[in-house]
Amino acid sequence: MHEFDLIQRYFAPLSQTSGFVQLGQGDDCAAFTPGSGQQCLVSTDTLVSGVHFFPTLVPEKLARRALAVNLSDLAAMGATARAFTLAITLPEVDEPWLSAFSHSLASSAQHYGVVLMGGDTTKGPLSLTMTVFGEVPQGQGLLRSAAQEGDDLWVSGELGAAWCGLQLRSSSQPDWLRFSPAAQELALDAFECPKPRLSLGEAIREMGGTAAMDLSDGLVGDAAHLARASGKSLSIDLDEIPVFAPLREAAPDIQTAWRYALAGGDDYELLFCVPKRLRHKVEGLSGQLGLSLTRVGGVNALAAEPIYFSSKTLADHVELRGLGWSSYNHFPSGS
Ligand code: ADP
Ligand code: MG
Repeated sequence: MHEFDLIQRYFAPLSQTSGFVQLGQGDDCAAFTPGSGQQCLVSTDTLVSGVHFFPTLVPEKLARRALAVNLSDLAAMGATARAFTLAITLPEVDEPWLSAFSHSLASSAQHYGVVLMGGDTTKGPLSLTMTVFGEVPQGQGLLRSAAQEGDDLWVSGELGAAWCGLQLRSSSQPDWLRFSPAAQELALDAFECPKPRLSLGEAIREMGGTAAMDLSDGLVGDAAHLARASGKSLSIDLDEIPVFAPLREAAPDIQTAWRYALAGGDDYELLFCVPKRLRHKVEGLSGQLGLSLTRVGGVNALAAEPIYFSSKTLADHVELRGLGWSSYNHFPSGS
């Protein structure tokens, strides 16, 4: 099949104009215009087969995952998602694969209200690069660098499910990781098809949240980035961490459960800061969105460490920074 026919059959049908996109795929460029008083936000992510996803991942899930991890960056800024481009490198023209991929991408795109406005198609080892475009009122995107002293620190959803899903898909998983079929399904879904928290991001921005980011590398490392970018220190109460329930139940002890919930990565939940006086609003939002939102700590003045952990359930009631839980890289792999 000729490259042009492939694009026509599998990608052109996903392209349409919208209030944001005036010219979709088919010409040398696409054209878009943000609404009046709006600012355009852009983010790109590449997924390489064998690096960012298992080569056995079915095309339906690959399409959902690629769009979701890209849209998650827009969610983290409080943006309204509008459009995306797709540069895809394919080892061969496999029509059943392309058909499944394109149908799944179309339904995900419709679900999140984004239109495909262009891309590129090349031959080579399987990889996908998406660029997503969103908008926020001028200057109101939720930055990592804007956390304020006295803010509450919140996290959405449960942490550690994606790490469990990754373990279930890999050949060497810890022997304590034994899940019911229902828990397995939840973990695999969290790992393979994360959900971009777009409605949450927009709502946080609208209510006056100060800072946010999405959790791709694990809360410990990501929260440290937010703390450093804002020039603040964060306090995190480990007892409040919303650990994926099957992980908490299966882990030999709570420290092990925390370790993977905090450093496992791939959760794509939002970590966000909101002034204390708006606490009731965040609590109300949780009900509206049907998504658990947990207050895990707060933002403090800059101190020696980016994050200070505490826990009442640990016998010695220590400050846990001594454990070296200040960055993802401090975790020895497999332990
Ligand atoms: P050029 O030769 O100018 O690079 P291409 O042949 O790569 O153009 O693409 C032709 C048109 O098809 C362009 O409008 C481009 O945006 C679109 N296109 C190519 N690949 C994709 C894709 N994977 N998804 C969406 N649109 C695509
Ligand atoms: Mg081209």
